Amino acid sequence: MNITTPFWRTQPGALDSHRTTADLPTSADVIVVGAGHAAASFVTHLLSLGGANPPSVLVLEERQLCSGATGRNGGHCKPDHHKQIANLARRYGIAAAAEVADLELANFEALKHYIETEQVDCDMVITRAMDVTMTDSLSKQDLDGYNLLLQSGVAAASNCEYTGKLDAERAYKVSGVKGAKSCFSYPAAHLWPYKLVHHMFSHAIAQGLNLQTETKVTHIVQADDVSGSWLVHTSRGVVRTQKVVVLTNAYTFSVLPEYEGKIIPYRAICARIVPETTAPPLGNTYALRFANWDHDYLIPRSDGSIVVGGARSAFFQDSNEWYGRRDDDSIIEPARHYFDDFMQQHFEGWENVRTSVAQLWTGIMGYSADSLPRIGAVPRRPGVFIMAGFTGHGMAQIFSCAKGLAEMVTNGTTYEQTDLPRLFEETEARLASQENMVCTSYRAATQQSKL
Ligand SMILES: Cc1cc2nc3c(=O)[nH]c(=O)nc-3n(C[C@H](O)[C@H](O)[C@H](O)COP(=O)(O)OP(=O)(O)OC[C@H]3O[C@@H](n4cnc5c(N)ncnc54)[C@H](O)[C@@H]3O)c2cc1C
Repeated sequence: MNITTPFWRTQPGALDSHRTTADLPTSADVIVVGAGHAAASFVTHLLSLGGANPPSVLVLEERQLCSGATGRNGGHCKPDHHKQIANLARRYGIAAAAEVADLELANFEALKHYIETEQVDCDMVITRAMDVTMTDSLSKQDLDGYNLLLQSGVAAASNCEYTGKLDAERAYKVSGVKGAKSCFSYPAAHLWPYKLVHHMFSHAIAQGLNLQTETKVTHIVQADDVSGSWLVHTSRGVVRTQKVVVLTNAYTFSVLPEYEGKIIPYRAICARIVPETTAPPLGNTYALRFANWDHDYLIPRSDGSIVVGGARSAFFQDSNEWYGRRDDDSIIEPARHYFDDFMQQHFEGWENVRTSVAQLWTGIMGYSADSLPRIGAVPRRPGVFIMAGFTGHGMAQIFSCAKGLAEMVTNGTTYEQTDLPRLFEETEARLASQENMVCTSYRAATQQSKL
């Protein structure tokens, strides 16, 4: 096994290179592009809504099942309880931000319920997230945001326990992180994303879905007749459909060129650390926040290993390493050794533990230019839908977002009739906007920290 194989893809399932039929069908009621968490969740909801007469569904995946960001991520399902929700509240107002917080709480409960009732073998552990702020200024900023949400009655904030203020010593004791200034603790989960996606697709195939891996969609065009149907061109032929659902996250530009610069590929890195001598147990998942642009996150697995991601301080200044990068088959070189002594450096009691990095891998996140996911009908393309731009946070949002999208695609439900947050709706104005928050925050970070 190559060390750069993501840990989650070290045990590929039977569906990894699956093709339900030897040839592509010539038509389908619904065509889904992509086979990551978004597609798996979408088809799960779509087929459960289909009743006695479910639509024929064809899924086209360029590579193997779950070989994109979902198969290469940190495995952390962490509904935001304070930080990004407070940022949204400052930018768009409390009511709009609270909708996002509620969606993430609902997603957490719905995903947990699905995994438990379906008995999905995906190593899910329900635990608490510990967000640790590592500087005084960040600590103050996060406390202000948390207080804003608490005073406004945002439900998520009231589930969040804060330690800090003038008591950094206590933050260190509570979190076990050296140099902690404050910490926020709230419910979270971690799991094996590939196994979850594999389970969802197994179930969907048993219900009649046709999965075609290693089949790249090259472009889609509307048929030149009165049918209003779409011709989906692939590396293996053309398929006709009335509805195309594009679930390709960072790679959306490859199917819908108007998303170039609207969903920006952003390369990230993760590692799996294995203790080789006895190590103190970790009771939570963690995020260590060093700056607004820089945080590391980790999940402790029940096999004793730790999956950790981040390392931006090692490579962020060179935007060529991450901005617009579409390749996930090589390591971000400046971060190659970042995780070698990560646990010893940051965690109490780990100083003398011997560890090794068993796997080190990259993946491509899809950063939305305005930092918000884009869900719904694609402007100017009747019958085409999108759900993408999860900006590195999809595990906390996708399952519930997919339910809303499935209602739109199946029943013709309007966006407003779903439970989806107003901020996530794709619109003509969002698509036309020249805003690029990835560049804006990069410039701000480089100026502030003089990288
Ligand atoms: C290193 C890393 C760590 C992360 N850690 C976390 C975390 O801990 N918690 C969290 O919430 N989020 C995390 N994320 C983000 C999270 O993984 C994503 O938000 C989520 O997986 C997106 O799912 P998706 O199905 O939309 O995209 P993907 O999983 O990327 O699926 C898209 C699929 O579309 C396919 N595709 C693309 N173009 C085409 C085409 N033209 N034709 C056919 N198929 C195509 C791709 O091959 C891919 O399989 C992380 C991401 C990375 C990269």
